[in-house]
Amino acid sequence: MQHPVVIIGTGPIGLAAAANAAERGMDFVVLEAGPHAGAAVGEWAHVRLFSSWSELVDSAARRLLDASGTWTAPDDAAYPTGGEWRDGYLQPLAELLAGTTGGQVRYDSRVVGVGRAGRDLLVDSGRESDPFAIHVETSRGRERLLASAVVDASGTWTRPNPLGADGYPALGETENANRITYGIPDFSDPAIAARYAGKHVAVAGKGASAQGVLVGLAKLAKTDAGAGAGTQVSWLLRRPSVGDAFGGGDNDQLEQRGKLGQDAKAAATSGIVTNLTQFRTASVTAQPDGRLSITSLDGQSVSDVDEIIVVTGFRPDFGFLSEVRLDLDPALEAPRVLADQIHPDHHSCGDVAPHGHRELTQPEQGLFLVGMKSYGRAPSFLAMTGYEQVRSVVAALDGDLVAADRVDLVLPETGVCNGAGAFDDPDDLADLGAASGGGCCGPAAVEPHLITLGASAGAASAAGSSCG
Ligand SMILES: Cc1cc2nc3c(=O)[nH]c(=O)nc-3n(C[C@H](O)[C@H](O)[C@H](O)COP(=O)(O)OP(=O)(O)OC[C@H]3O[C@@H](n4cnc5c(N)ncnc54)[C@H](O)[C@@H]3O)c2cc1C
Repeated sequence: MQHPVVIIGTGPIGLAAAANAAERGMDFVVLEAGPHAGAAVGEWAHVRLFSSWSELVDSAARRLLDASGTWTAPDDAAYPTGGEWRDGYLQPLAELLAGTTGGQVRYDSRVVGVGRAGRDLLVDSGRESDPFAIHVETSRGRERLLASAVVDASGTWTRPNPLGADGYPALGETENANRITYGIPDFSDPAIAARYAGKHVAVAGKGASAQGVLVGLAKLAKTDAGAGAGTQVSWLLRRPSVGDAFGGGDNDQLEQRGKLGQDAKAAATSGIVTNLTQFRTASVTAQPDGRLSITSLDGQSVSDVDEIIVVTGFRPDFGFLSEVRLDLDPALEAPRVLADQIHPDHHSCGDVAPHGHRELTQPEQGLFLVGMKSYGRAPSFLAMTGYEQVRSVVAALDGDLVAADRVDLVLPETGVCNGAGAFDDPDDLADLGAASGGGCCGPAAVEPHLITLGASAGAASAAGSSCG
């Protein structure tokens, strides 16, 4: 190849793509907007993952790291925090990859445009033969790189869904951003705990992240040496009732997910939480005392709110892909062929079939959306699925279709998201239960299988969905 493969993002999936490219001796450049590897993961450093280390280290990356002799492999059975994932794996891997022949890892390099060199979206001729042109913003100014192929592993972290029910920020949401947090706050940080302790907090969202926030606030209300007394939560739900939001409890196939549901239920009924159902947020207004009033489209309102925590998922950014040809599912914003396999109404993380280059390929030949971004708005992405994606994609880019069409991912019998909790406190593993941060609601129990692409969808769906 005349030009390197450009990989966007040093998250786990971008770096796994680079590790596969390095193993194959391909030239690659990884472009990362942030100042270090795993910049997005670092933003949720306090959240403990629900997958164990054995499910969080890519195979090609492990081979490279093991061979380097400088890496201390973590305990496969342990559940790291985001911070531990970054420091114990992503950063050392990025350093190693930056030192490989033909490999570059650049930070402070935000991709702002991907197109075909000399051709905008409209021009047909030469699209399949000419290189990609990558426009990059750095603190030194704008740069343009040529690439033989582009692997977009830029994730979705930078685009949380807004509070507004229309999918756009509610009226006043942007203006009152200083009292609104998107994602799970680190309640173990004293400054952050002080922000919420004793306050009236509105929590929007119904998934595991929202439940983790409820549990965190309930815990704060009890344990913050008196300062937490008076903590009040208004839980904003779009659905008509809390219904089965807490899962099946003791009957849940997944013990830890059931436990989170039960803990959240306990938090929700502890007297500090008021449910506001069918609440589709229209506006956020600052009161004269600086606190907020939130109003729904049907006229419900909640006032005297000190803080709002929005945990309603993420969406991908296609802003820098406007000059390339994409085929996306109109609802999920995921590659169309993949969308049916990952739709949250029918699938959870444990029963999405392993998949690769064929599902991820786009009309713009040589461009692949991988990792969290490949799932669009679906919340069920798992790192191990992403590792399989990029193993296949990089093999295809290397012309090795035999390896690209093979499926190497073996899903563990006990499921893939069966551990851990929300906060960087090992005690919370017992206290809080399962996943609260990643948006993956937990897998079905899956029989071990090694399947081929053609057979994958059926084999995986036979395992059943656990999302409910
Ligand atoms: C709180 C939380 C907990 C999770 N827990 C688990 C778990 O336990 N198990 C599991 O399997 N999965 C989990 N996930 C899901 C998923 O595995 C992670 O989100 C994972 O980090 C996704 O990897 P990624 O490489 O696709 O994207 P990211 O990790 O988001 O990495 C994307 C990278 O691209 C960079 N970037 C973005 N835009 C640009 C640009 N324009 N130019 C250059 N760089 C750019 C970002 O700075 C970032 O470093 C969790 C997710 C979250 C949010």
